[in-house]
Amino acid sequence: MFKLVCGAGNEDCESVKRLVYIYALAGCKYFDISARKDILETAKTAVGMTGAKDCHYCVSIGIKGDPHITKARIKESVCIKCGNCYRNCPNDAVLSSIMIDEKRCIGCGTCAKKCPTGAITMFEKDVNVKEILPYMVENGVEILELHIMGHDKKDLEYKWNVINECNPKYASICIDREIYGNKEVIERIRNMIAHRKPYTTIVQADGIPMSGSDDSYKTTLQAVAMAEIIQNANLPVHIVLSGGTNAKTAELAKLCGINYWGIAIGSWARKIIKPYITAPDFWEDENKRTKAVEAARALVQSVEG
Ligand code: SF4
Ligand code: SF4
Repeated sequence: MFKLVCGAGNEDCESVKRLVYIYALAGCKYFDISARKDILETAKTAVGMTGAKDCHYCVSIGIKGDPHITKARIKESVCIKCGNCYRNCPNDAVLSSIMIDEKRCIGCGTCAKKCPTGAITMFEKDVNVKEILPYMVENGVEILELHIMGHDKKDLEYKWNVINECNPKYASICIDREIYGNKEVIERIRNMIAHRKPYTTIVQADGIPMSGSDDSYKTTLQAVAMAEIIQNANLPVHIVLSGGTNAKTAELAKLCGINYWGIAIGSWARKIIKPYITAPDFWEDENKRTKAVEAARALVQSVEG
């Protein structure tokens, strides 16, 4: 299973529409989107435009502290207008006027790392999960995903309970090793799935979140390593690789004997079609759309064979 990750924080309807449209034409059946009504509608519209059937939607939320629910903010008084953030943002969320377009910001933190003056800080943008998640399930979303990289156990418990109450087809736990060691990762997952039916939970093994900026084995190594740690624990879950995934991930995972259920690709999937989907004449220029579909199809096929 290939899953296109539009970005938990990607709230830009036009960007999501173009991404979903191209990847649906390329054969993708799973779409990971932000937990917003307008984004779900947009994704469904884009799929409808392609005529693709049997498509599935996953919405992502995060616990406090998880980078997937953060956004960047620029403190003007400290900014020297060097343009580093503008040049390095992978999602074109920094405008030429050195302002952040919050809807496009996916919280990757690249701008903050490149800022020479410390003018950029990250802040959390949470959603009302009690309101939005039941709506999502009622409107055909099959997977509710929780990114759990943070220290707030209370928030984790609260949001995981809400997900379970919504009774989605699958609940998904997205975890990496930035904060926890191997033992704690497994312990956390064990606790979370204790009352769930076997194989109704997906564990999204995140290598390095939002790091798929090139197509090397090295970039995807940590996602494969993380998947192996989950696999070795013999838990009754489906394993999906993510975080640094690219066209090499499936090959490396197979070589390493990983019995995965799917591969979720975000940064790399967006990057390879970026020149086409950011073009102002995207909807008018059929040639650009065809080239984008060709690039996307090669990536989908690297996973689906
Ligand atoms: S670099 Fe990342 S965190 Fe900064 S504005 Fe762009 S998407 Fe947001
Ligand atoms: S990198 Fe920092 S100093 Fe440079 S333009 Fe961006 S916010 Fe301003």
